[in-house]
Amino acid sequence: MKILNALLGAVAAVSLFAASANAQGYPERTITMVVPFSAGGPTDTVARLVAESMSKDLGQQIIVENVGGAGGTLGAGRVAQADPDGYTLLLHHIGMATSATLYRKLAYDTLNAFEYVGLVTEVPMTIVARKDFEPTDLKGLIDYAKANKDTVTVANAGIGAASHLCGMMFMSAIETQLTTVPYKGTGPAMTDLLGGQVDIMCDQTTNTTKQIQGGTIKAYAVTSPKRLKIFPDLPTAEEAGLQGFQVGIWHGIYAPKGTPAEVTDRLSKSLQKALKDENVAARFGELGTEPSSEADATPAALKAKLESEIARWKPVIEAAGQYAD
Ligand code: ASP
Repeated sequence: MKILNALLGAVAAVSLFAASANAQGYPERTITMVVPFSAGGPTDTVARLVAESMSKDLGQQIIVENVGGAGGTLGAGRVAQADPDGYTLLLHHIGMATSATLYRKLAYDTLNAFEYVGLVTEVPMTIVARKDFEPTDLKGLIDYAKANKDTVTVANAGIGAASHLCGMMFMSAIETQLTTVPYKGTGPAMTDLLGGQVDIMCDQTTNTTKQIQGGTIKAYAVTSPKRLKIFPDLPTAEEAGLQGFQVGIWHGIYAPKGTPAEVTDRLSKSLQKALKDENVAARFGELGTEPSSEADATPAALKAKLESEIARWKPVIEAAGQYAD
């Protein structure tokens, strides 16, 4: 027994040494940032902006890998299983918290499978429709949806996605069940909205801004407490008649459990720099969002956010009784 304990102690000491030795020269090679939704969508847009700026600071390339499916849980699962060496990261959004309750059988334990790097940004949602969809304002959309509930289709990025959450909130607010159409991300969902294959969607401004400004889709409302500078004429959902309808989609960066603290701290510092990068801040502004503060772009702030958001959404999802399985 003594020999076994001594051996185990030696193994632990060696792996601790290996972890800190790795952290010292980190990063020495390309880092992969998994986005759990399709390329070209809003989470992808945020990840690519931040990854580009962090790459410069870290002196190593961060490549974005899109692992879409099952509302973001496939990509999160991939990172939970990855080596905890700082070379595989996850950029996810609010779905990290909601899927913890929506999926009763997840392949990972949300609160115990990850280390934290920091919060990135919080993005408002917009309620939008294909360009030639009949209703012209939110009130008209509500009446139309109630009268045509068997034919109106709502695009989303799968159960657990922000678009799914917002769509569910909309249907529950108007007490009408519509047909939902799931995609692996709202990048491809937007393609179908533009092509007129689906009717409506609730999605981040980081995906909808260009299309709203170009007049290629119709916008009814924004889900922020106040109107956005980029859309001064677009009412908030509350102004347009949906009391209490507010939702902000926060994004965070995670690493697999066991990633050394020196590594997550290095990444967090790099994230903080990226969020102060003029190009990143300007682009975020154009897309209706802003970078998280330095205090929020920290492991402790993201951990606290995830914990409080799981606690916030759990009773809501349980009351709705709607699960992914
Ligand atoms: N906006 C998507 C969502 O509904 C995700 C994405 O494609 O980035 O969560």
